[in-house]
Amino acid sequence: MVLGLEDNKKIVIVGIPGVGKTTVVNKIAEKLNQQNKSVSVHSFGTVMFEEAKKSGVQSRDELRKLNVEQQKNLQKKAAETIANSQEDVIIIDTHAFISTKEGFYPGLPNYLIQILKPTHFIAISAKPQEIYDRRTNDDTRNRDIISIGSIKKELDVQDAMLSSCSVLSGSPMKVILNDEGKVEKTADTVINAIGL
Ligand code: ATP
Ligand code: MG
Repeated sequence: MVLGLEDNKKIVIVGIPGVGKTTVVNKIAEKLNQQNKSVSVHSFGTVMFEEAKKSGVQSRDELRKLNVEQQKNLQKKAAETIANSQEDVIIIDTHAFISTKEGFYPGLPNYLIQILKPTHFIAISAKPQEIYDRRTNDDTRNRDIISIGSIKKELDVQDAMLSSCSVLSGSPMKVILNDEGKVEKTADTVINAIGL
């Protein structure tokens, strides 16, 4: 082991829209703060949106409607900002892919993995029906409502995308279920998985 570097964790948390990532990440941060760990949480979409606002984009949900080249530039800027964080635990709330009209676009292409250098990849998952209901019931956001069949397909694509991230980085990936009403338990499972 080298000079305590093993204590520094950069955790990428992915999940398809509405699965409950942000809810779970907030709970994880709350728990780690109680343990006096220095934690920073970065919603990749929010960091990208801060950059996008400078080019006139007005809502967070407009981001995925930009063309691939525009999204790529915003991703790189966001990754560089996050990579400059100094905390013991850096949590990145993001997507393994984004559905665009050109197809499934990777949220973590190799050039971003090389900037971020994550130590762990966690996918938050749930039963397709629960994801469907969470998307439908959450009035605070403007998510695309898609069929249960399409949600199942998205979960399969997510596994494939995250496997590639794991191979490219040499860091482990783990899929964790965020069961209905079990945010606390999901957060504990993630904390346990990353050895904190
Ligand atoms: P996005 O990728 O679009 O940002 P997200 O994965 O971050 O989505 P959240 O905003 O955290 O999703 O959660 C979506 C909705 O699901 C919210 O209304 C949240 O309260 C609810 N939710 C999250 N986890 C659970 C759970 N375990 N049980 C019940 N409801 C949940
Ligand atoms: Mg979110």
